[in-house]
Amino acid sequence: DVLARMDAVEGKVKAFLTITKEQALEQAKAVDEKIAAGENISFLAGIPGAVKDNICTKGVRTTCASKILENFVPPYDASVVTKLQKEFPVLVGKANLDEFAMGGSTENSGFYPTHNPWNTECVPGGSSGGSAAAVASGSAIFALGSDTGGSIRQPASFCGVVGMKPTYGRVSRYGLVAYASSLDQIGPITRDVTDCANVLNVIAGHDDMDSTSSFAEVPDYTKSLVQDVKGLKIGLPKEYFVDGMDQDVEKAVRNAIEQLKSLGAEIVEVSLPHTKYAISTYYLIAPAEAATNLERYDGISYGERIDGADVVELMTNTRSKLFGEEVKRRIMIGNYALSAGYYDAYYLKALKVRTLIQKDYTDAFEKVDVIAAPTAPTPAYKIGEMISDPLKMYLQDICTVPLNLAGLPGISVPCGYSQKHMPIGLQLIGKPLDEATLIRTAYTYE
Ligand code: GLN
Repeated sequence: DVLARMDAVEGKVKAFLTITKEQALEQAKAVDEKIAAGENISFLAGIPGAVKDNICTKGVRTTCASKILENFVPPYDASVVTKLQKEFPVLVGKANLDEFAMGGSTENSGFYPTHNPWNTECVPGGSSGGSAAAVASGSAIFALGSDTGGSIRQPASFCGVVGMKPTYGRVSRYGLVAYASSLDQIGPITRDVTDCANVLNVIAGHDDMDSTSSFAEVPDYTKSLVQDVKGLKIGLPKEYFVDGMDQDVEKAVRNAIEQLKSLGAEIVEVSLPHTKYAISTYYLIAPAEAATNLERYDGISYGERIDGADVVELMTNTRSKLFGEEVKRRIMIGNYALSAGYYDAYYLKALKVRTLIQKDYTDAFEKVDVIAAPTAPTPAYKIGEMISDPLKMYLQDICTVPLNLAGLPGISVPCGYSQKHMPIGLQLIGKPLDEATLIRTAYTYE
């Protein structure tokens, strides 16, 4: 069973920041009673799930993997958690992440790094590394992650599981601790596409508590679990097969695309010419929004406090000692880009390029139904290998951040292994609100 499995592997994987075993056993008992009473239960009832620790859970510590929220216990559930609870899953714990979801390896956690279950010397990816590692190691059957620039898809690809970032606004962000509000989106991390469709069915849909959440009707995603890509036009963007891409990744992804072709899909070359500006655009917009969102951790209204002689010293002590290095780096970049003298040159410029990136996709989607690409330029790398070079880390996000800038849905499905036996992910990108076609394509391929 899942809790026994967790006991066996968690010491090595360290996917969780908080394990809620007692609560889980109580929830499981309640489901048993429902079954004994002959009640109809949903497919998610009794199924063990993990929630990324930047998603608020009432009465259960939610830290964002930051010392500044080490003891924060939310008085309310995020809307996704409320929606899930109605199906009576068993929530086994809160999954590790890069502090405030800033990073791509879970090494930036303020507490400890998570290890990749396929090779514990490697990173699980990030920032939802704990969620992906929990599912890959069998400590949870499904997990929720959040994706601002790849944080669901990239760890899914590194851990050999399925991860979907829905369209911006498809899933409520209420109760997700904000990193970059115009990019953040919650989504499922699961063992296969069927589970992905089932979890998405529960969490998608309008929520009055999130003013950016979409009113669009939510289809039943399990209806898309059909093996049929005949006539589907799949775009192949040449800009995504970047220089320096790992050979094994390129081979596995091209192979996957060939398979989709042999199943009846039509492969069409497309061009997304502004992709080369996506990293610089993202790393201005995301830190700018992060700097603004993180202003609230002042040592007074939220979280932990380190005292000082006066209020200014209190704030300085709290923020400089309790935020990690990467978080401070982003706050500095963000405030710089937003400051009076540089706003037009950096932030405003980035917003304009964001529009061009969106337009690239709009043009491409006139010709195709889905775009296929790698999820990440490499498989999982060794812990410690990349962390000392933030710029190199940022460049790793090239295949994932453009979607967030454009608000589009994307899914990562396992498509093979590197020579060192580490999983590789195929990324499928969809039209706005067209998660259904992504599920159908991924399901057919899987
Ligand atoms: N790696 C990217 C970043 O550090 C994406 C993170 C995310 O999606 N939360 O910003």
